[in-house]
Amino acid sequence: MGALSGVRTAVKIVNPATEEVIAEVEMADAAEVDRVVERAARAFPAWRAVAPGERARLLRRFAQVVEDHAEELARLEIAGAGHTIGNAHWEAGNVRDVLNFYAGAPERNHGRQIPVPGGVDVTFAEPLGVVGIIVPWNFPMVIMTWGVAPALAAGNTVVVKPAEWTPLTALRLAELALEAGLPEGVLQVVPGEGEVAGARLVEHPDVRKIVFTGSTEVGKLIGAKAAEQVKRVTLELGGKSANIVFADADLDKAAASAPMAVFDNSGQDCCARSRILVERSVYDDFLVRLSQAVREVQVGDPNDPATQMGPLISAEHRERVASFVTEADVYATGSCPAGPGYWFPPTVLAGSSSESFRRAFAEEIFGPVVSVVPFEDEADAVRIANDTAYGLSGSIWTRDVGRALRVARAVEAGNLSVNSHSSVRYWTPFGGFKQSGLGRELGPDALSAFTETKNVFISTE
Ligand code: NAD
Repeated sequence: MGALSGVRTAVKIVNPATEEVIAEVEMADAAEVDRVVERAARAFPAWRAVAPGERARLLRRFAQVVEDHAEELARLEIAGAGHTIGNAHWEAGNVRDVLNFYAGAPERNHGRQIPVPGGVDVTFAEPLGVVGIIVPWNFPMVIMTWGVAPALAAGNTVVVKPAEWTPLTALRLAELALEAGLPEGVLQVVPGEGEVAGARLVEHPDVRKIVFTGSTEVGKLIGAKAAEQVKRVTLELGGKSANIVFADADLDKAAASAPMAVFDNSGQDCCARSRILVERSVYDDFLVRLSQAVREVQVGDPNDPATQMGPLISAEHRERVASFVTEADVYATGSCPAGPGYWFPPTVLAGSSSESFRRAFAEEIFGPVVSVVPFEDEADAVRIANDTAYGLSGSIWTRDVGRALRVARAVEAGNLSVNSHSSVRYWTPFGGFKQSGLGRELGPDALSAFTETKNVFISTE
């Protein structure tokens, strides 16, 4: 967004694979956030009045401009967040697809007609006004767009606060939106520190909704602060998801797929299946196969198409991840480069009852560390899977259809997959149970999180 007035600090953006400084970005203070929100509030009446078909056309054009710049956006995410080239290409494509999907929404944002005596009763899905979207560093452009696309489609204006470490793709997307013809003030990005710019967005009375994706700890603070104004919130928070492997599963497939179900994006994934639960009769066999698969994970240069896992986001985060690994709990490790970059090898912890293992099994590590434990039977598997405050995702491996469905219904989590690890498709709902979140993103109903239902009765008498 160019030079910001009233800025207080600048943050150096570092390539996590090389430790080179690639950019410097000014952090907005609260006064700058106020100015940005004011612009968004001024842009709202005209944006909500744009005819549905025209809003749809602008969103489609935005998707096309993203497609035209997909390689550039992917390269920015590789340099700024250390994502592998395969992931970064998928992410730029996901931004395009999510914009295109919700470009279909303005013309379908129907109300209802409800039979009543003495007149006609209709409902309208009204936009909220200015929506604030606070984004984490792990999937910067994708998570931003999951809020931006349906919010704009419903007629809201949007202010995005990216994470301190990863603002580059968000800033570029705001420029591309203008290039696509979205009016000034409709989509703005304001980089800043969470406790300053993020907190001001949450407090600002003209911001009618906050979509927050990030840690459960900060999510609780934001939920409490928003409650003071009965401000709407969607919260997408942490996870500690279970990958449950029954003895009758295709063990080869379950073991071969388990590493990338947790080590994708270096484990910095809220859906990471970081607890593997294995039926005791195949526990040892599974661990041998899993260790083999972990040793084969290609960790290295994110620009190499063969690379499956890149670095962690920062030195500080690597230190935190390392604090969860105690040598005595380690069953197997993969490899990673030495030298510059915030590297950490894929790590399997297993078969320990130590205090350190219990901590690693319980807390969200957000790094390439997976903990494996045995279970006795179906009830035991469900008990262990649910023995957590989180409830975001999970996987169930079995050839027994009845059991797959029973366990899928019993696990308290928002996104489950059977004989697969997929959690996210833009046309299906995504979100968490328990302390993993509040509300849902994506899918056919996402606009309802960005509209208020208004009921109008018209007398015919
Ligand atoms: P974080 O909570 O530290 O920060 C997230 C965002 O909130 C950042 O933009 C930060 O600047 C901002 N922020 C921090 N303090 C704030 C405050 N007091 N007021 C307003 N904003 C504030 O999280 P993170 O470390 O960036 O991301 C990792 C976490 O995000 C993990 O717990 C992960 O599971 C979670 N996550 C969840 C999902 C999901 O969809 N459920 C997706 C991705 C990441």
